[in-house]
Amino acid sequence: MPQINRVAALDDNYVWIITQGKTTVVIDPGEAQPVIDWLSTNKRNISAILITHGHHDHVGGIAGLLKTHPDLKLYANRRLVLAIPHIPIDVNTRFAIDGLSFVSLDLSGHTPDQMGYYLETENALFCGDALFAGGCGRLFNGGTAAQMSATLTRISALPDQTYLYCAHEYTLANLRFAQIAEPNNVKTAQRLIDTITLRQQGAATVPSLLGIERETNPFLRTEIATLHHAIDQQANVVTQNMVERFAYLRAWKDQLDATGILDEAI
Ligand SMILES: [Zn+2]
Repeated sequence: MPQINRVAALDDNYVWIITQGKTTVVIDPGEAQPVIDWLSTNKRNISAILITHGHHDHVGGIAGLLKTHPDLKLYANRRLVLAIPHIPIDVNTRFAIDGLSFVSLDLSGHTPDQMGYYLETENALFCGDALFAGGCGRLFNGGTAAQMSATLTRISALPDQTYLYCAHEYTLANLRFAQIAEPNNVKTAQRLIDTITLRQQGAATVPSLLGIERETNPFLRTEIATLHHAIDQQANVVTQNMVERFAYLRAWKDQLDATGILDEAI
């Protein structure tokens, strides 16, 4: 049975480490030292690194880990340009690292070439900065609303019992926005209360379950009539399709992110 371990890095990143037998797979090491410390505490060597996208807070630790583990294999999207050569993976491809079987998914939008890794036996999706607990990634590097909307639809098509291993602890700010977007969603209100308690205790709020995201994450709910209406009202437009609704919802959150009110202390 694989075990999935969470290592905090940088300000609010999570590096996920999958272990099974002698195999150790590290996902998105944005920083080397916390991973090196974890490996040393747990007496493990890295077999492989999987990269979801090229932002510094996801790849910044690769060089440092290669110094201590020169034999590790680095996997990433064929389209991703990295300073260090990697084993290229195409989207919708099944591949194995020792006994761990992954399927690569196109999770473009946050960047045009973001890739997710679905660990089949654990119903675990390592989704980088595509979907977060209660929210989703911003559009960067030319990633488009159409790409992100399609990505969210692809994730949403997975089973309710899919665990989402995202790369940041953004849940509290995300749910504050979710409650503004859907003030009458009682499940969102309860999740926000539970998240405040967890964060007051310094506890992590991820991984999350897709079934709960579908009930509380507004970025998976733009087709719910009340939210659809709220988006149109907020933007003062009549949206024609899901991509437009995603784009206006994303812009709405970006505006509030810029004010800082979603990040106020607990
Ligand atoms: Zn990113």
